[in-house]
Amino acid sequence: MKKIIFATGNQGKMAEIRSILSGLGVEILSMKEAGIDTEIIENGKTFEENAVIKARAVASKVCEKDVVILADDSGLEVDYLNKEPGIYSARYMGEDTSYETKNQNIIDRLNGVPKEKRTARFVCAIAAVFSNGKACVTRETMEGYIGWEPAGKNGFGYDPIFYIDEYQCSTAELSMEIKNQLSHRGKALRAMKEKLANRANR
Ligand code: IMP
Repeated sequence: MKKIIFATGNQGKMAEIRSILSGLGVEILSMKEAGIDTEIIENGKTFEENAVIKARAVASKVCEKDVVILADDSGLEVDYLNKEPGIYSARYMGEDTSYETKNQNIIDRLNGVPKEKRTARFVCAIAAVFSNGKACVTRETMEGYIGWEPAGKNGFGYDPIFYIDEYQCSTAELSMEIKNQLSHRGKALRAMKEKLANRANR
């Protein structure tokens, strides 16, 4: 493995990805840094399928050998809402709708629902596509529940309404270091790092 290209343009994600995957001893580039610009239609039915679709779309633009393409797909599943918004988390109520509105809408839909039925989780799938066309996927979750009001200014997206028992606060109230230790994305990335390291040692 000579190089890793991660199918994201999000600089925040790239910082987390670099810090977790450093130690593999390979160059890690974002799509943009690799000079790749492609429109990706995420039409899978699961987080895993969407992650593979994204990684394959980028892989189809790379001619170099020995390059691993990684991509992630993540979202929030609320059990009481039949796992909505799920793979539609970014598109829930429309891509341009603010998270203030999306978050309030989820709280309103859980009006009167007791804590034990407010369980939810963040899910993250990471896909790797290799030069030989083979793919592998890791999937991890962070379990929690939907609170009664938004709290906290850290993080992004649904963090202000996603609470975890261990810290008795929302994930928007956690420091980035703690969130990265607990998060679905951190866990899925660390699992992927292990797979890549094992592969390199074979
Ligand atoms: P994507 O994987 O970047 O497409 O993210 C999907 C969507 O899931 C994001 O836009 C957020 O709405 C939501 N999401 C994923 N991970 C998190 C998280 O750690 N905190 C808050 N929202 C998240």
